[in-house]
Amino acid sequence: MKIVFVSPEIAPFVKTGGLADVAGALPGFVSNDEFEVIAVMPCFRSLDRNAWSTEFICNIDIPWADGVEKAAVFMTRMPASGVRVYFIDYAPFFDRDGLYGERGMDYEDNDRRFAFFCRAVLETCRAVNFRPDVIHCNDWQTGIIPVYLKTLYCSDRFFQGTSVLFTVHNLAYQGLFDPENVINATGLPWSVYDMYGVEYYGRFGFLKGGLFYSDFLTTVSPRYSSEIREPEYGMGLHGLLQNRVDSLAGIINGIDYDIWNPGTDLLIRGNYKVDDTGNKKINTVWLCRFCGFEYDERVPVMGMITRLTEQKGIDILASAFDELMKREMKFVLLGTGDEYYHGLFSDFAKKYSRKMSVILRYDEELAHMIYAGSDMFLMPSKFEPCGLSQLVSLKYGTVPVVRETGGLADTITDFSTPAWEENNRPNGFMFRDYSPDALLACVDRALKVYEDSDRWNQLMVNAMNCDFSWSASTEQYRELYRKLFRMKDNLI
Ligand code: ADP
Repeated sequence: MKIVFVSPEIAPFVKTGGLADVAGALPGFVSNDEFEVIAVMPCFRSLDRNAWSTEFICNIDIPWADGVEKAAVFMTRMPASGVRVYFIDYAPFFDRDGLYGERGMDYEDNDRRFAFFCRAVLETCRAVNFRPDVIHCNDWQTGIIPVYLKTLYCSDRFFQGTSVLFTVHNLAYQGLFDPENVINATGLPWSVYDMYGVEYYGRFGFLKGGLFYSDFLTTVSPRYSSEIREPEYGMGLHGLLQNRVDSLAGIINGIDYDIWNPGTDLLIRGNYKVDDTGNKKINTVWLCRFCGFEYDERVPVMGMITRLTEQKGIDILASAFDELMKREMKFVLLGTGDEYYHGLFSDFAKKYSRKMSVILRYDEELAHMIYAGSDMFLMPSKFEPCGLSQLVSLKYGTVPVVRETGGLADTITDFSTPAWEENNRPNGFMFRDYSPDALLACVDRALKVYEDSDRWNQLMVNAMNCDFSWSASTEQYRELYRKLFRMKDNLI
């Protein structure tokens, strides 16, 4: 089977978030004798073409507005798996400093940039003669690929056998635009601009296009796939998602244990493993020194690495913070995001300098040290499609304290889960209400258990023994691809 994996970003080439990690890993894991996989993304300025030795493949013509535009296609291979990655080079849209915007502002032509990209993906398949059985789209930037296929390309023989799988990594980003602009640029028929189509409260919704026109939908955790069918999490799309419940599944993301492994991680100060965690302390001592804390084995360090947005529960953390700082604990926060929270947490760091530290930047190396050096990891998310940070924390024996939502609910088993429950292996602490009080009560439970080193060590062992590698999820994606293939086969 031939699979085209489409994503606006793919690690290690270009990355701004978790989607890039998934896109950099999954195609390689899926690929084998049965599945031939290629990946496609835009050729952004930040892609270092020399470093990745990209080669020119061909030029393609893209029907656009009232004419035709020329784009170039470059190619390289993924470092570990050798999967071919094609880059769509079209300078007016992609040769810019940012991926989606600059200085906190989205580019005003993002609709045209990504509509162009979607069409270029289809034309690239044709140009390199890769006739896809499944096009696997990811997030709103790829959402109108199935819209093109069901309209302008519906009688194109090249794509007769093609199905579309659409994966939602975050329903909060919908790609909503002025319909006139999109229709004029793409030539899509106005008939798609309908409540039963791409229309979303007077806007052209790229994500909605993906959700409506794709053959099958997935989210990145089972819990999130049911949450988004409810008004609380559905962002106005819960009705559509409920209607598509028979074509909607959740598959949890994996993480790459070659990168995230405390036994081999070169970015941490002391390597350790589940049957010998003694060296974890070396990292804690280092982290305390880095943060300007006095190290005290009896006082746990809580870490948090996050985008500073309300999705991540930053607002309830801020409300609880003065109370939290009355506890016997240290707190280190690494993150970037809303200016407002930059200011607020910088003020907290000044006020509680002996037990709280905040680092407002993106820092991969420091992130490794926080995962390794902390005792607990906080994720009080309002919603969480999957979450990678708790999976990393588990591997590093850094016990997650999380809110019960999305992928957090699917991967964390609360300490208090009754022993008679099936598969009971508590690996963290979880609270349900989205409130400062519930957060504090949960932290208090964790602090209490920390006082008992035997029980805490057992939690660490349970956490480190969890397996969230890509293998299980990869098999689920393969099974879905096969299912789509069979469905199409029956139709033609
Ligand atoms: P998101 O919703 O942001 O994708 P995830 O938990 O799925 O959240 O993934 C976030 C990833 O980005 C994690 O691997 C986390 O370690 C990393 N990360 C987030 N903020 C920073 C930062 N400021 N510095 C380094 N790594 C970060």
